[in-house]
Order: sequence, then structure tokens, then C-alpha cells
Amino acid sequence: NNILNIVNLNTEVEGKDILKGFNLKINKGEVHVIMGPNGAGKSTLANTLMANSRYTVKSGDIEFEGENINNLKTHERAKKGLFLSFQHPEEVSGITVENFLKTVKSSEATGMMGFMKFSADLNKYMDELKMDKSYAKRYLNVGFSGGEKKKNEILQMLMINPKLAILDETDSGLDVDAIRVVSKGINMFLKDDNAVLIITHNTKILENLKPDYIHVLIDGRIVKTGDYSLAKEIEENGYESFKKLL
Ligand code: ADP
Ligand code: MG
Ligand code: MG
Repeated sequence: NNILNIVNLNTEVEGKDILKGFNLKINKGEVHVIMGPNGAGKSTLANTLMANSRYTVKSGDIEFEGENINNLKTHERAKKGLFLSFQHPEEVSGITVENFLKTVKSSEATGMMGFMKFSADLNKYMDELKMDKSYAKRYLNVGFSGGEKKKNEILQMLMINPKLAILDETDSGLDVDAIRVVSKGINMFLKDDNAVLIITHNTKILENLKPDYIHVLIDGRIVKTGDYSLAKEIEENGYESFKKLL
């Protein structure tokens, strides 16, 4: 039933200790949220999980579906079913949104049936996300507004259909309507056999998501875990009182 199990993780960035004894267990069907002040290590966690080479694991275990993946490279982790939506998506000139997705899904989108299913899924999800069809033909993220980049990431998540999606501040810089579309996309993605880890500052996106657990990250460590009411408490009072729990 377990998808991700992080045990006593310590990571370093540019010689600086960031995650300090970090623990997290995510089971199938669960929505987890990590909240925390700037610089707490939220993006470091996301980057470490995707094996970004600038982030070094000093000690601890990252287990994915019961298997230690500490030594797997980014593409190997993606193949196992880990997906990361970046805080700042890259612009890729020369490859269109549609062709990027075809490349990623190349093992399935072959033959006439595969291609037809691919096109049908792409159309369906773009409709749901209120994306104009012309975006499929545009270069990946090039000239996209912040909101369009984020919707495009949600589109990628839906098309790739990973076992665990990690969304790093997918709601930052979005207007209310776009936040609603993004949370709708996340709800479409969620099934009994997958899970989502949302990293956010914004409790607005959580209103439609019914998260199971809210974790508060302070200085590289989870200092408190609770239900949705914890997000409300943070919205009202900030992080100050949690810093004392360190
Ligand atoms: P958050 O996402 O919670 O705001 P980050 O994980 O981005 O925090 O950053 C945690 C700390 O690690 C900060 O002090 C930040 O300056 C540092 N850091 C993160 N990534 C890098 C990097 N690539 N190079 C140098 N320092 C980094
Ligand atoms: Mg930040
Ligand atoms: Mg961050």
C-alpha cells in the first residue's frame, strides 16, 4: 500500500545542510501537503526526490514502492512512476507540447490505436483544463504565461499518469480561476492507486482538494503533522509558533 517512504534523510546543497532528519510516508490514495516558510527546504525535497545532481543525499533512505531508489537517476525514477512539477518550468524551444508528450509516452502511443487514444486523452484533458487547442502545437513553455505553464504541467501529469506526483508551488502566481482549474486537474488525476504530494504556500488550492495530511516543514524537518485544520491555522497565524517546535 506504500508508495513513498523517506527515512531520516539528510541532504546538502552547495555544502550546506538543508534537509535534517526528514521523514515522510505516503500511501496509495493519499494527498499530502508540505507547507513551510521560505528557505525551509521544500524545493530541496522535490529536487532530491527527482535526483537533481546539485542536491546530495548524505544519509537516509528514499524508498519507492518498497525499493530503495537512492542511486537511481532522474529518468529511472520517472520510469518507475515519479513525476515532479517544477516551481519554475523550463522553456524548451524546438519541441512542441504535443511532441514532448508523445516522446514521453512513446512506449504506449504506438500504432493507430495508441495514437488515437493519445489524441483523445490530450483533447479531453486540454478541454478540462480550459487550454486552447493551439497550445499543443506551441513550443514547450516558450512565451507561456505563468498560468499557462502551470496548466501545462498539470496536463503533463494527467497524460503521463505517474504513481506519485510531486507539485512544487503549482499554485504560485495563479489567479483564482486558474487555481480552480489546477485543483480540478489534480482531482481528475487522483485514484486509489496513486498519490500526490503538494508543496504550497497557498491554502486556496487546498480548499477543493481534501488533503489527508498537512506537514509543517521548518529548517529541513517536519515539526508537525495534522489534518486540513492545520493549514487554516497557518493561514491565520503564520509559521512563528511552529519554529518553537524545532
Ligand atoms: P523552499 O523551497 O522551502 O523555499 P529551498 O529548498 O528552495 O527552500 O531552499 C532551502 C535552502 O537551500 C535555502 O537556504 C536556499 O538558499 C538553499 N538552496 C536551495 N537550492 C540551492 C542551490 N541550487 N544552490 C544553492 N543553495 C540552494
Ligand atoms: Mg520558496
Ligand atoms: Mg521552493
